Amino acid sequence: MKVGVARETAAGERRVALVPEALGKVTAAGYEVVVEAGAGLGALIPDQAYLDAGAQIVSTADLYAQADVILKVQKPNPKEVARLRGGQTVIGLLQPLIDPATAQAIAERGATAISLDAIPRTLSRAQTMDALSSQANVGGYKAMLMAANSFGRYFPLLTTAAGTAKPANVLILGIGVAGLQAIGTARRMGAVVKAYDVRPETREQAESLGATFVKLKTQIDATGAGGYARELTAEERATQQAELNEVIGTMDVVITTAQVPGRKPPVLVTADAVGKMKPGSVIVDMAASALGGNCELSKAGETVVTENLVTIIAPDNLPATMPVGASQFYARNISSLLLHMTKDGALVVDLEDEIGGPVTVAHGGKIVSEAVQKLLASAGGGA
Ligand code: NAD
Repeated sequence: MKVGVARETAAGERRVALVPEALGKVTAAGYEVVVEAGAGLGALIPDQAYLDAGAQIVSTADLYAQADVILKVQKPNPKEVARLRGGQTVIGLLQPLIDPATAQAIAERGATAISLDAIPRTLSRAQTMDALSSQANVGGYKAMLMAANSFGRYFPLLTTAAGTAKPANVLILGIGVAGLQAIGTARRMGAVVKAYDVRPETREQAESLGATFVKLKTQIDATGAGGYARELTAEERATQQAELNEVIGTMDVVITTAQVPGRKPPVLVTADAVGKMKPGSVIVDMAASALGGNCELSKAGETVVTENLVTIIAPDNLPATMPVGASQFYARNISSLLLHMTKDGALVVDLEDEIGGPVTVAHGGKIVSEAVQKLLASAGGGA
């Protein structure tokens, strides 16, 4: 069986699904590997490195003609979907809950769609496959670097002959995977870090990395299913907001990462709160997308500077801005999943398997994910 590594075509995407270092395990499992010419260039990997690792370099047409399994980072675009055929499998971060139509189109081609977004994240043997975590980790790190880069002062306390620089006060809102990495990164740069989340168990995690947990007078426990947060009630939101506004006003840098599965991200930094921040302060809104963000004033994919000189950065694909490191982690995730689903040198879809079941979105010409079926039905598309 042949595994194909596709060149990413989404705007700004520089990651690649498989790096040469990850090839060994894939070929040892019995696969031949074909790589689309130039697939690794965005991540600074020349074709020769794949050749040296034992892969063949092929054209786009040959990749789709030859590969039984196609590895991608992002979902295929309509042209790529049109190249898929029955019996072929595409694996990537397909985002079927955001874009069920692409999953449906893959099913209509008779191809199988496997999405890394649906890995059961709390299952310990699936942790090496958890691409959402590995990429959020890159995102949290990069968000803090961007904030430091935009901030016109030092992060650490610095005593020099020319004077003393006060350390930066950094606040992290949302202490999931990205938030924890952002805390660690800010601490390593010497900032004074505070952090806040609506799941009480995050307090200990934040403190173990050297942050002070922001305890609001009104305690909210919004632990939801699967370790995620639930949406707050209107009343909870109002009390949280009022107390958070006071803290935000005293901060130099705020990184927001808060997400609620399947919902619009909660607004945690209101226009009012931004108005109270000092000139030169920086906000990086990692939750910003077309749906909105954690900061009321952020514009997805853009950097804005407010009238009171606060910079608000809303990057849209942070992992792609660190493509070498992000691709290395991603390659580990996708190859672990591929090998988990491999029997006797071939990919086997087992819908009863506790990992294989949830990740399979389309198979045998049909959408097999219930959540995606429901979305398509509510959109009037059927399944
Ligand atoms: P996420 O991206 O869904 O959200 C980021 C953070 O925002 C979460 O910590 C969430 O609680 C917080 N948040 C949501 N609404 C908020 C609000 N109104 N105010 C403040 N904070 C708010 O989270 P994630 O990084 O994908 O992690 C989700 C969960 O999955 C976490 O519990 C994480 O520990 C867990 N996880 C577990 C494993 C594992 O067990 N192996 C692996 C990865 C992730």
